[in-house]
Parts: sequence; structure tokens; C-alpha cells
Amino acid sequence: MPEADLHVHTTASDGKASPSEVIRLAAAEGLCAVGICDHDSTNGIDEALEEGKKLGIEVIPGVEINTDCGPTELHILGYFIDHRHPKLQDALNWLRSSREERGRRMVEKLRQIGVHIEFDSVLRASAGGAIGRPHVAAALVEAGYASDINSAFGKYLVRGAPGYVERVRFTPMEAVRLILEAGGIPGIAHPAKIGNENLWIDLIPHGLRCVEVYHPDHSVADQRRYRRMARERGLLITGGSDYHGPESIRFCQIGQPRIPYEHVEALRAAVERRAKQT
Ligand SMILES: [Zn+2]
Ligand SMILES: [Zn+2]
Repeated sequence: MPEADLHVHTTASDGKASPSEVIRLAAAEGLCAVGICDHDSTNGIDEALEEGKKLGIEVIPGVEINTDCGPTELHILGYFIDHRHPKLQDALNWLRSSREERGRRMVEKLRQIGVHIEFDSVLRASAGGAIGRPHVAAALVEAGYASDINSAFGKYLVRGAPGYVERVRFTPMEAVRLILEAGGIPGIAHPAKIGNENLWIDLIPHGLRCVEVYHPDHSVADQRRYRRMARERGLLITGGSDYHGPESIRFCQIGQPRIPYEHVEALRAAVERRAKQT
């Protein structure tokens, strides 16, 4: 049975593997389709598409937009987006430039408590991708302020720690709207991490169309729960490994978990139905 991994990161955000590496790994794992869903970026998609063409792997252009709903973080996935859509690109560019600004402010705040890292080493750690706390953490480890990424987070970068800076973000509703405008299918990522289901159920009337049932952080009971919710609320099912590459904070293998290809077909059918309506 053909299978897909619909949640993969690349070096276009905080992944450690390049888009072509990710596609080669997917091919080696016997997957037939991969959803490239970088945080706030679609810059890995063209390279992935090209490598996919060579290796016979279908690449689904996607994105994962990190949003804030009050104190809770919601990750909104988008599938089958037109990744060159100007409005989407404008919005993602804006988010990324605010990420850089945030990185600079974190470096500055750390300097005020006597922790000296260079913004350049943060930039280097991000390797041209969207800058995030993992890259500041890597710079802290490199400079000897922490033994590993996790302790760098704990000491300096978690909310409330001396280096923490709030970020500029969209609301979940704004992200859903943006994905719809770019012709995509919006979904909620790893709902078990959110806890309060009402936060994303509220998005369904606004166009949320799928739920990530399968994710490495989901227990079998979680999977059952979200499958049932999908059925009851008429949502499509997605899933994937949330792969971030080797030696990333959260290690997992590409394709673990993976989902039957029929879910990809259902997503595509939904995109085509919408295209006919408009
Ligand atoms: Zn996520
Ligand atoms: Zn992710």
C-alpha cells in the first residue's frame, strides 16, 4: 500500500536536512509522497519538488504556521498551497523578518546578564532558514554557556527565562485565512500538544479542514480520539513524523508515523472541489 509522510521540516526552517536530502530519505524509506511543512516558510518546496521529480516522490507543497491563541501556541498546517502566492509570501516574509528581529533582541537580553554570544553565530546555526530559539540555543552551546540544546533552553530561553523574547505571530484564524487564500487546505497540527480542543474546534466554521491524527507525540488513545473527532466533525485526516533531521531536538525517523496514500487523495479531492466552486 502506498504511504505518505505529511509533516516534514527542512533547512528552510529548523530542520537539519536539506529539502533534497529529505526527499532522498523518503525514497529510501519507501514513501510515495511527502508534505514539506516548514515553519513560516515555503523556501524548501522548489528544491524538494525538483528532487521528487527525479526520484518519483510526490511532493505536497505545505507550510506550518506557528500562531498564538492567548497563552497557547497553535500550529496551523496548510496543504496543497500555491507556494508562490504573493499574499502568502508577503506574510511569511514578514513573519521571518520578525524572527530575525527577535533573535537580535534575545542576543541583546543575554548580553545584559553577561552572556555573550554573537548574532552571527545564531545566523550560522540557522543556515539561512527561519531563525528560532533552537539557533540561539546552538550559539549558546557553541560558546560554552550550556552543555546541550536542552539545557540552553532551560537556562536561558524558555518563557520567563532571562533570554526569552515574545514573538510576533498570527492568530490561528489569520493563518487559516491565509492558507485558504493561497488555495490550500488548513489543518491543525499535533492537537494532543494543545490540550484545549475548543481552541481549534472553533476554527472549523472558518475553514479548518483537517486534523493531524498521526504524530510521534500521539498515543494510540490520542489517535483514536482524533479519528473519532474527524469523523464526527467531517474533517480530513493527516499525519506525519514532524521530521526535523538527524541530531535535532526531537529525534524521529522520517515516515514514522506514515499514513495511507488515500488520505492524500482525499486532501487533493478537497482542493479540486474548492477550485471548482470559486
Ligand atoms: Zn508543530
Ligand atoms: Zn512541525
